[in-house]
Amino acid sequence: MRPAATVGARSGATVDLHLHSTASDGLLPPAAVVSAARVVGLTAIALTDHDTVDGIEEARATAEHAGIRFVAGIELSAEEDGVEIHVLGLHLADVASLHDRLLELRADRMDRARAIVARLAELGVSISYDAVLAHAAGGAVGRPHVARAMMDAGAVSDFREAFDRYLGAARPAFIPKKKLTVGDAVKLIHAAGGLAVWAHPGTHAGDPLLSAVSAAGLDGLEVLHPSHGPEMVARLSALCDARDLVPSGGSDWHATPGATRTLGSQAVPFEWLERQDAALAARGSAASTIRAS
Ligand code: AMP
Ligand code: ZN
Ligand code: FE
Ligand code: FE
Repeated sequence: MRPAATVGARSGATVDLHLHSTASDGLLPPAAVVSAARVVGLTAIALTDHDTVDGIEEARATAEHAGIRFVAGIELSAEEDGVEIHVLGLHLADVASLHDRLLELRADRMDRARAIVARLAELGVSISYDAVLAHAAGGAVGRPHVARAMMDAGAVSDFREAFDRYLGAARPAFIPKKKLTVGDAVKLIHAAGGLAVWAHPGTHAGDPLLSAVSAAGLDGLEVLHPSHGPEMVARLSALCDARDLVPSGGSDWHATPGATRTLGSQAVPFEWLERQDAALAARGSAASTIRAS
C-alpha cells in the first residue's frame, strides 16, 4: 500500500521543493541557494523561479558538486475563474522546450513593471523603471524588485510596507500579469516532462476551484508551505490521498533579510519526493504502453 502523505512520518531526511534565486525575485544567485541548502542539511532541493529556467544549469552543477539531489523546476502564474493560481513545474526534463513561451512571459513582466512605475508616479511615488530593472539584474522582473527600488528611494520603510500600501493584491499600484490558463500551464510543464503541482493552494482550496484545477490535469498539491497552518496541511494531505495527487512542499524561500520564511523550514519528508518519482515513472510506463499498442 502506498504510504499516506502524513507529515509526521519523517525518516529524518528532508527536502525543499520551492526556492527562488536571482534568476527571478530571490536575493541569492542559484549556486548560493544550493550552498545554503547544503549548510542546513537538505538532501534534495528544487529551484522554482518565476517564469524562468535560467538558474537551473548553475544550480544543478553546484548541487552535483555538493552531493544534493537537484530537481529542475519553475513557478508559473496562471488564472482560473479570475483567481491567480501558481503552478509549480517539478522534475522538468526538457527545460529548452519552455524557452519561447517563457520569453513572452518575461517580456510581459517588463511591460507590467513599467506600468507599475507609472502608476506609482501618479500616486506620488517617484522611482525609475531603470532602478527596478537594476534590482532584477537581467532576471524575471517582479513586484519584489519594485519594492526594493521603493525602499532605495525612501518611499517605504520596508518591503512589507511596499506590498501593504501599494503593490499587494487590490492595492492602488497593483497591476496583474498576463497569465496562462491553468490548463496551458499544465500542458507546458507536461511537455517539458515535469509534474504540475498547485503551489500554496491554501487560500483557494475550499471552493470549487480545486475541481476545476484538478480537471486541468494537475499532478499534485503543495501541502507544506509557510502560508499553511496545521489544519490546512492535514486537509491537503487528505486531498492528495483521496484524489491520487502527489504531495509536495517547500519554504518558498527568497533569502529576504528579516523574513520569517527560512530555508528548509517546512521539513518536507524525502518520502514525498519518492512519491513524485513514482508518479513520473508510472507516467513513463503508461506512455510506453500506449506507444507499444
Ligand atoms: P509577481 O510575480 O511580480 O506578481 O510577484 C510575486 C512575488 O511577490 C511573490 O513570489 C512574493 O515573493 C512577493 N509577494 C507577493 N505578495 C506579497 C505580499 N503581500 N507581501 C510580500 N511579498 C509579496
Ligand atoms: Zn517570488
Ligand atoms: Fe507563488
Ligand atoms: Fe514562490
